[in-house]
Amino acid sequence: MATTTRTTSGRTDMTDQATRLTRMLARFTDHISKHLPWDVEQRLTELAAAETDQRARMIYDTMRRNQELAAELDRPSCQDTGLVQIMARVGDGFPLRDRLPQIFRQAVGTATRTAPLRHNTVETFDEVNTGTNTGTDSPWVYWAPLPGSADLEVDIYLAGGGCSLPGQGRTLMPGEGYEGVVDFVLDVMVSYGVNACPPLLVGVGIGSSIDAASYLSKRALMRPVRSHNPNERAARLEDELETAINALHLGPQGMGGENSVMGVHIENSARHPSVLSVAVNTGCWSHRRGTVRVHPDLSYELLTHEGVEL
Ligand code: SF4
Repeated sequence: MATTTRTTSGRTDMTDQATRLTRMLARFTDHISKHLPWDVEQRLTELAAAETDQRARMIYDTMRRNQELAAELDRPSCQDTGLVQIMARVGDGFPLRDRLPQIFRQAVGTATRTAPLRHNTVETFDEVNTGTNTGTDSPWVYWAPLPGSADLEVDIYLAGGGCSLPGQGRTLMPGEGYEGVVDFVLDVMVSYGVNACPPLLVGVGIGSSIDAASYLSKRALMRPVRSHNPNERAARLEDELETAINALHLGPQGMGGENSVMGVHIENSARHPSVLSVAVNTGCWSHRRGTVRVHPDLSYELLTHEGVEL
């Protein structure tokens, strides 16, 4: 009898906890759609201050005003609220880990109603809009373990259509080497960068297969703006690519200006000696991503935003 009572009570408790976590993640997704992370805000301010071109300065002013109004009016800061993508790092001891797929789906569905987020999820082949921003494998979730931890860390990213357009990847022919990586990244920027509402955050993934490179290029977009790869050579290449892409002078919204990018981030894995795959993903000036660390008792730390209670 006592055992039954404990089980029922435990289930109820877990259900309450799942409901609480769903609400927290929905609230955070809603908030991200209206407020840029502090590092993006700061970088936009720096880039605006570096502009000498009058039109570019005016566009940066408009971006700043856009963000102020989004906060004031409690509305998403861009009409394209993107498709939600999630990077989840889950500790062994996190109590709700088995329920996370369901919790993520429900959180996105709730944020779609409350924010509201634009209905952006269309079932491929059926071409039917689900109306909830959830669907087959959507939200897309990248899972990773958090060894020796009982926490959950979640990056929530609103991947806009425009900023997803430059996404490209290629496996280079042996011998093309790192020069081939530079050529590829610059080709993508010259051809498609202007479509993605600059200044861009450029994520470059380098790995041993196209799928690894592609994943790494998206992971690169989750790093704080202008953080560096721990490998010195990779960090140098980040700086060199940033200088080279800035020399295109795309300017804010691609209308011309001093700079083109907020930064370039490279993520890499070890590779087969004869294979070097490279992929590019971009974030736009309205780079809406947020990271939260949730402890087992559902207390939390926001790593990208402040001034919001989940
Ligand atoms: S690229 Fe970004 S800022 Fe431009 S329309 Fe898409 S989501 Fe909005």
